[in-house]
Amino acid sequence: MSQGTKIEFEHGQLKVPNFPIIPFIEGDGIGPEIWQAAKAVFEAAVSKAYGNERKVIWQEVFAGEKAFNSTGNWLPDETLEIIKSHYVAIKGPLTTPIGGGFRSLNVTLRQTLDLYICYRPVRYFKGVPSPMRHPELTDMQIFRENTEDIYAGIEFAAGSPEANKLIAFLKNEFNVDKIRFPESSAIGVKPVSKEGTERLVRSAIQHALSHKRKSVTLVHKGNIMKFTEGGFKNWGYELAEKEFGKDVFTWTKYQKIKEEQGKNQAEEAYKQALAEGKLIIKDKIADIFLQEILIHPADYDVIATLNLNGDYISDALAAQVGGIGIAPGANLNEETGHGIFEATHGTAPEFAGLNQLNPSSLLLSGALLFDYLGWGEVAELITSSIEQAIANKTVTMDFARQMPQATELSCSGFGEELVKLI
Ligand code: NAD
Repeated sequence: MSQGTKIEFEHGQLKVPNFPIIPFIEGDGIGPEIWQAAKAVFEAAVSKAYGNERKVIWQEVFAGEKAFNSTGNWLPDETLEIIKSHYVAIKGPLTTPIGGGFRSLNVTLRQTLDLYICYRPVRYFKGVPSPMRHPELTDMQIFRENTEDIYAGIEFAAGSPEANKLIAFLKNEFNVDKIRFPESSAIGVKPVSKEGTERLVRSAIQHALSHKRKSVTLVHKGNIMKFTEGGFKNWGYELAEKEFGKDVFTWTKYQKIKEEQGKNQAEEAYKQALAEGKLIIKDKIADIFLQEILIHPADYDVIATLNLNGDYISDALAAQVGGIGIAPGANLNEETGHGIFEATHGTAPEFAGLNQLNPSSLLLSGALLFDYLGWGEVAELITSSIEQAIANKTVTMDFARQMPQATELSCSGFGEELVKLI
């Protein structure tokens, strides 16, 4: 059997050997059972697509409780090193250690590898119970900025010397008198940079162009936070014009034509751009966007947004398609090639060991991983086997409870069913 070789990253491209070594973190709680089910499906799909020509050599790396119990460390340096040198990894959910001084392991992984894109595709699987009348109209790809914003973790507790010092500085140096209760305010800082915005928006536009999507919407609260969220919007539009001018039609361009030549000309230019298949770059205020995805979901496609907005939007959209337990995710740095693909739900500790829950979030994250490696046939096989199983109403407990006449399968049984469908 082949030993496997490492994936490399050269000239902005992943170089994937036929027998790539891919590190995996099994995860805590239900992690081991969903990983076992998913791994069997991944192997069946690779084998079906490529016979003996290609095979993944999985390498376990440790994090979470499994790492803590054997090393006393929740996230050993060795794990980070191995993921860094192998470029990609897949992981189950990890417990967030409780107690002072611990940051979420997921956040640490993202920050250490500077994984600036949190990528969440949201689509409907026919038959999944959803609160929407037409859940199939929701088909969006979220690019959430993953390293900046109020989520950067720069926060000081109310009454702490740091908060007091910062409040005094703002008052003395900048005459800030808008802090309503300065004595008892906690303070958080919201950094949003041009570079951070540009690399995220660039990836979203490149993705939209290469996947022939119709539009990219920049979602922000620039009407209120003019320099941070407004900066995101302006830098995003500028980048679209500067780097993708030939392939896109921006809403800023529409406005400019409207001002200079009138509305009819602007409409004409927009129609022409659509006819030429140009990618439309538009923007929406975040609160209106949350209404829009319910009322006009078909009008939105690729979404580029800041960290906090992206957190809310990802869960809202996943809920819309009934997919909160099966939504996949990836954290990526397209400049260094690094990517961690992960189940987006948590460890569901009360179900650990019961072999009952749904491995689809990890499975679909695996499909994203195979797509990222350029093994699109494998991604397609994984995704279509899940589509078929759901259409046949052979599902795990979480769906079976809500689907009339469904056959309830265990987690491993669902995996076996998918292997048969591949
Ligand atoms: P959770 O996602 O673990 O569970 C909430 C509920 O969602 C479960 O009770 C279950 O009903 C449902 N659910 C979760 N996974 C499912 C699956 N695969 N199939 C069907 N239903 C599923 O959220 P929680 O209880 O708030 O968090 C538990 C732990 O997980 C905490 O330690 C938390 O920090 C951690 N967490 C980790 C991640 C991650 O690693 N990415 C994400 C969220 C939470």
